[in-house]
Amino acid sequence: MSEALKNQVAAVLNEPACATNRSKDDAARKKGCTKQLTPGAAAGGCAFDGAMIALQPVTDVAHLVHAPLACWGNGYDNRGSASSGSDLYRTGFTTDLSELEIVMGQGEKKLFRAIREVIEQQSPAAVFVYSTCTTALVGDDIVPVCKAAAERFGTPVIPIDVPGYVGSKNLGNKLAGEALFKYVVGTMEPEVSTPYDINIIGDFNLSGELWQVKPLLDKLGIRILGSVAGDARYAQIAKMHRARVTMLVCSKALINMARRLEETYGIPFFEGSFYGISDTSAAIRTLCAMLVERGAPADLIDRAEALIAEEEACARAALEPFRPRVAGKRVLLYTGGHKSWSVVSALQELGMEVVGTSVRKATEEDKTRIAEIMGTEAHMFENMAPRDMYAALRAARADVLMSGGRSQFVALKARVPWVDVNQEKHEPYAGYMGMVNLLDAIDRAINNPLWADLRTPAPWDAPPAPAAPVTPLDLSAMAGTRADFEDC
Ligand code: SF4
Repeated sequence: MSEALKNQVAAVLNEPACATNRSKDDAARKKGCTKQLTPGAAAGGCAFDGAMIALQPVTDVAHLVHAPLACWGNGYDNRGSASSGSDLYRTGFTTDLSELEIVMGQGEKKLFRAIREVIEQQSPAAVFVYSTCTTALVGDDIVPVCKAAAERFGTPVIPIDVPGYVGSKNLGNKLAGEALFKYVVGTMEPEVSTPYDINIIGDFNLSGELWQVKPLLDKLGIRILGSVAGDARYAQIAKMHRARVTMLVCSKALINMARRLEETYGIPFFEGSFYGISDTSAAIRTLCAMLVERGAPADLIDRAEALIAEEEACARAALEPFRPRVAGKRVLLYTGGHKSWSVVSALQELGMEVVGTSVRKATEEDKTRIAEIMGTEAHMFENMAPRDMYAALRAARADVLMSGGRSQFVALKARVPWVDVNQEKHEPYAGYMGMVNLLDAIDRAINNPLWADLRTPAPWDAPPAPAAPVTPLDLSAMAGTRADFEDC
């Protein structure tokens, strides 16, 4: 690993805004979060994968992976991050290095040619170039190649130095944020600045979730000036430094970026969620209060309250028919990050009982919120092997499992309905009306008549019905007597 990358990894692991780091003593903090990497540590996502997840939703950029084909091929387009404009982000570009090119040291030249080809053919707003294990190990230095290509072709070419072996997916998220901050933020100026300009970081617009919330912001006149989120454009990253407030939707992934925006440009940030009615209202309230503190007209707060009252009333009316169909149902939640608490509170609002929630990828703050919402820490669990999840579903007598696609077969095996709440889902669950979509999905899953059939034992497995008791013949009741037959 190059010295520069080693220093950057150490700095990212020692993130001062991270609650886990803040809770450590000086000695432990100095050590950072470095862990000895073990074989298989990248299973489930390497640093390169994490960087792609964080940045691929930037839609008008060509994402060029400098690697043999497999790095990109494995993770290609596995998220439902929606775009209202360019579809360029959904095309996979890779230098597709062959063994011969690696052995002959032709990687950097091939990368330069690939950048030229993608700019000539696609005219992207920018090219993001990702390094990977193979190209980093053979010593390809993407930084000077990107610099030379940008100067030659007049298009920004941004190096994202994230070889998978440096660590986990989460580390890759943060390294991607570092690259954006170093090479992109502050490179363009907005035509006009308003006191209603905000940044959004870490929402991926999965199935168009951000579009459930943006109309609310539009009604209040709030503009998403800067964005590292779904449906983002390159220019929105470049102009982030002019926003008044940053909303961080998933603090675990890109908190370093929000903290750097605060330290460098004085833009305060907060973490909020658009999952659930109360959390959506709380996020809007916080956003407006912070904007007013930073110079927006004070009537913004009254307008926000009026909007919240109207939207909450609408959403609660739409939820009412579902309430009797889901109230009292028991949910096992296996997701991560901010959803581990925001979905809990949303379900509890509807009278459902959350029997457990995972705290994978959750920060210390996330865990504190779960404990507050659920009243105890007893229902939190970390990663769960499929066998344990099966046992938990049975032991808790769960009525539904809400998780990502990888767990769906565990639910089916346990004959428990399943609802997808992770990145591959096809329905938007954010904002007020997102809750209605979520309840509709839960209702469809739980009250599907197939579950009653599925749980009924098959006819050949059912215990045999007890035989009808044999009534002894009452000969005395028969017509005639023994004497009647003796003469025959
Ligand atoms: S970057 Fe490395 S760990 Fe990640 S997919 Fe490529 S080879 Fe695998």
